[in-house]
Amino acid sequence: MSGQDDCIFCKIIRGEIPAKKVFEDDDVLAFLDIKPIAPVHVLLIPKRHIASLAQVNETDAPLLGKMLTLVPMLAAAQGADDGFRVIVNAGRVGQQEVPHLHIHIIGGPHPLGPMLAR
Ligand code: AMP
Ligand code: ZN
Repeated sequence: MSGQDDCIFCKIIRGEIPAKKVFEDDDVLAFLDIKPIAPVHVLLIPKRHIASLAQVNETDAPLLGKMLTLVPMLAAAQGADDGFRVIVNAGRVGQQEVPHLHIHIIGGPHPLGPMLAR
């Protein structure tokens, strides 16, 4: 077994729990968020278990760059071809709930509203 045994996103990668996959290659997996906050809500994760953006280092840079570069294609494929928002929650203050690095890709069709309540 690879990855973290009890990590929910590693379980999705291993096929142990279902997900609506929208993209996959050797390095990354994208699937629909189970509780979407907008009409488009995709999660993009590395297949290698990285706990958080708060814990990345230089060796992760190519993978992180690849992930960000995939975002426009993934957004457009879900219908968000006129803009989107990317959120990465990290750690306690970021209120990250799942401790496997993930990029939220969130889109309309309508404007999403302010980033955070002021
Ligand atoms: P975060 O608060 O940034 O850690 O976000 C975790 C996200 O994972 C939330 O938006 C959840 O709705 C989503 N999520 C949790 N479990 C699953 C699952 N089994 N399949 C799809 N999305 C999930
Ligand atoms: Zn994991």
